[in-house]
Amino acid sequence: MSATADRTQTAVRVLDNFIGGQWVPSSTGNLLDVTNPATGDVICKVPLSSQAELESAVAAARAALPAWRNRSVIDRARWLFGFREALVARADEMAACVTREMGKTYPDAQAEVARMIEMVEAATAVPQTMQGRILEGVATNVDCETIRQPVGVCAAITPFNFPAMVPMWFLPFAIGCGNTFILKPSEQVPMTQQIVFEIADSLGLPPGVINLVNGGVDVVNAILESPGIDAVSFVGSAKIARYVYERSAANGKRVQALGGAKNHMLILPDAVMDKTADNIISSAFGAAGQRCMAGSVIVTVGDAWESLRPVLVEKTAKLTVGDGMAKGVGVGPVVSKAAQARILSYIEQGIADGATLAVDGRSPDADENGSFVGPTILEGVQPGTAVACEEIFGPVLSVIQVDSFDDAIALVNTSRYGNGTSIFTESGAAVRRYRNEVEVGMIGVNVGVAAPVAFFPFTGWKDSFLGDLHAHGTDAVDFFTKKKTITSRYFSAGPSGKFFVE
Ligand code: NAD
Repeated sequence: MSATADRTQTAVRVLDNFIGGQWVPSSTGNLLDVTNPATGDVICKVPLSSQAELESAVAAARAALPAWRNRSVIDRARWLFGFREALVARADEMAACVTREMGKTYPDAQAEVARMIEMVEAATAVPQTMQGRILEGVATNVDCETIRQPVGVCAAITPFNFPAMVPMWFLPFAIGCGNTFILKPSEQVPMTQQIVFEIADSLGLPPGVINLVNGGVDVVNAILESPGIDAVSFVGSAKIARYVYERSAANGKRVQALGGAKNHMLILPDAVMDKTADNIISSAFGAAGQRCMAGSVIVTVGDAWESLRPVLVEKTAKLTVGDGMAKGVGVGPVVSKAAQARILSYIEQGIADGATLAVDGRSPDADENGSFVGPTILEGVQPGTAVACEEIFGPVLSVIQVDSFDDAIALVNTSRYGNGTSIFTESGAAVRRYRNEVEVGMIGVNVGVAAPVAFFPFTGWKDSFLGDLHAHGTDAVDFFTKKKTITSRYFSAGPSGKFFVE
């Protein structure tokens, strides 16, 4: 057990790794400042661990694997039940930590933590979901069955925008299925997972079943190269997703790599505009636009923009920008000064490419030490321009007007990404056609953020997802298990069986 109090009371604390059931200081002197993006204050230092430190986690995970995979599945599920209860008890503390290190508003962080806990709840179903199949009598006296076994040592590499939830897309499902696990959280937001691992540490999990290695590129490369790691789960930008996917596959690992996104929201003229505007705002500007399911382009059909524009602009202009911990704030900071500079340069590029500002968020009334960008709406955006096609990952909404529903579907389908899309209409026929023809993996119907609940898979397409088996839902059990098929007969059991094609 760790001395939690000692580890949290230092003014600017240096984070430890959690390896083989112990909190271990990193041996590297390579430390990165973690800042509160609302104030610019340094809130901790994270070590950029070495390949050797990753390998010591791999050794611990491999050593723990034989006993853990042979623990009864009910035991493993019961551990997850206890984990769930302990996470609930510290939910508000984790939400505050998410706001502090990532910037999203406290209510949004509470929602993230609730969805994180939902992942653990879904994983407790493993005695059901891990079941195999059997067919008696495939030939006389011969039975055939497929069972599921853990893949081995699994690692996850996660992004900054969901410090609590995204690691739990993998950890509970992996260990529920009998694997052992290594997490490398985003070095920009490493603090929330310290709390998660403290909670796990207090619940008597055998040493080495879960491990936490802080770091950046070196730890990622060590994961991709380590012969002791069997499966890799990645969530992050499209470029790194492709790199992780290709390198993991080249090294013979099972891999799922979730990449970036550029999500379109289609607005048909019959949409209920007031409620549609609310949904667009929470999709485009919630978490300051830093969600992989954030709507970042609205495509309005016919005269829909004329009726939507006044209500959308009025509601957007009322949003308060500030520290996500303050009451009444609608838009918190973006994650870093570098992100702020990137987003502002996209806005300038949009203007240079002919768009105009319906709402200008370039100079919000907020702490200059923080990294704030106010909600911004660019109208008259031309298809093919940077703000129309590239992931901005900030509170910037581009408006493209098209003449027809056909044009709108064709426009969405030109995107290299296929994570999420939403359609706003009361027409069932239009919805049916859209869900049939659009080349995007997750669809919202009058829902601005169509991120599936834990019991369904997170089914991005195109450059938003590389792999076969998605995160959470039943796909998680498919990803974290290997199938083994056994054909059996017993000569003393009865009349001798014979295959027709033996
Ligand atoms: P990122 O790609 O910069 O980082 C993700 C992880 O990769 C981090 O752990 C980081 O340490 C590591 N990494 C970064 N650069 C690397 C490199 N050159 N080599 C090896 N590893 C490297 O992503 P981010 O900025 O943390 O997160 C935002 C991105 O994640 C956005 O593109 C967003 O759309 C995407 N995202 C996608 C999903 C999804 O489900 N598809 C969910 C959340 C976030």
